[in-house]
Amino acid sequence: MDKKQRPETLCVQAGWQPAGGEPRVLPIVQSTTFKYASSEQMGRLFDLEESGYFYTRLQNPTNDAVAAKINALEGGVAAILTSSGQAANYYALFNICQAGDHLVSATSIYGGTYNLFSVTMKKQGIEVGFVDQDASEAEIARAFKPNTKALFGETISNTGLKVLDIEKFARIAHKQGVPLIVDNTFATPINCRPFEWGADIVTHSTTKYMDGHATSVGGAIVDSGRFDWEAQANKFPGLTTPDASYHGIVYTATFGKEAYITKATAQLMRDLGSVPSPHNSFLLNLGLETLHLRMPRHCANALEMARYLQKHPKVAWVNYPGLPGDRYHDLAAKYLPEGSCGVLTFGLKGGRAEAVAFMDRLRLVAIVTHVADVRSSVLHPASHTHRQLTEAQLKEAGIPHDLIRFSVGIEHIDDLISDIEQALTD
Ligand SMILES: *Cc1c(COP(=O)(O)O)cnc(C)c1O
Repeated sequence: MDKKQRPETLCVQAGWQPAGGEPRVLPIVQSTTFKYASSEQMGRLFDLEESGYFYTRLQNPTNDAVAAKINALEGGVAAILTSSGQAANYYALFNICQAGDHLVSATSIYGGTYNLFSVTMKKQGIEVGFVDQDASEAEIARAFKPNTKALFGETISNTGLKVLDIEKFARIAHKQGVPLIVDNTFATPINCRPFEWGADIVTHSTTKYMDGHATSVGGAIVDSGRFDWEAQANKFPGLTTPDASYHGIVYTATFGKEAYITKATAQLMRDLGSVPSPHNSFLLNLGLETLHLRMPRHCANALEMARYLQKHPKVAWVNYPGLPGDRYHDLAAKYLPEGSCGVLTFGLKGGRAEAVAFMDRLRLVAIVTHVADVRSSVLHPASHTHRQLTEAQLKEAGIPHDLIRFSVGIEHIDDLISDIEQALTD
């Protein structure tokens, strides 16, 4: 029934489905543990022979209801919540690779994910090759090796604001016999559902628009259920051969389309444990209930702000995928017809010094290390998140020294523009 409902209805109603006499609002099941009558039944739960709750690190009813809502919004078959977006991307990949394996990723991705791939996963013996997402299919295909296990990209990259050609990436991944994993954080399923364009797995930092109020760090992984792991059984032995830690269970044989998420829950969450607190999931659910109302407002405000900045004599350049003439406008028109996101980047003619002075003059718009919440905020990566980098390294990371990242909130646009106006005028 969920599949036929529109995203607006799913935002409000999907996930928690109370029976008669149960609370109308998603309850916070703030319990680490669950009681059973017989030790035999508890044993069956531990062997994955019966489904049920026994310990919140593996499953919790509040967390599961919110995962089910995100699953419905993305149009997947199963989903899992994680304690952060970082954990979501790590689990999404580590669920299908191990030491000695290789991954291919777009270069223009979130800085934290770039570090995870290029430093931490490398220490674990997993190598990531980076590609220019705008290169030709043939060029990107050259980055693949026999031990490559996945292709990764972001629908709209944070902070580059590049729009991913998802169909092209899906074609490349599938020709190589690996899944395409798309981080859909900035677009959200309100503006883009990557499964409709061929992606196999979607990840989220729910910390951003989904929570939307800057209260809770969190993440999610959603599986489309469409990737045929058994057709590539040699590549994915973790899913297609017996798991010694569960008396030899074979995930694909026992769980079919839910094999991937079941393995992430039963094996990775059991052993690594990046589980969200039920209270955070409750807050995330409140955010999701209005996601369909907030996204259009974020996008409309960002577009108007981009237009205003573009015309301002002190502004050197503006990047916003929704802006006609933007490098990614055509891809945005295809994949994000309803709007892209509330984040834009721009540079001032005075460069780095002027950027810093401008930000210090802002009154309504705050300087914070965050994006995608209801309050407007700015960040100057060269002075903050990327301050350890040299001029040359900044250039390589695609972050000009004058770049200001502006997360446009849902305040009245006239008040935002007058704050920017006064800060540019002084
Ligand atoms: C913020 C972000 C992450 C990391 O998420 P956290 O919730 O901060 O751990 C991953 N991907 C993208 C695109 C992000 O914007």
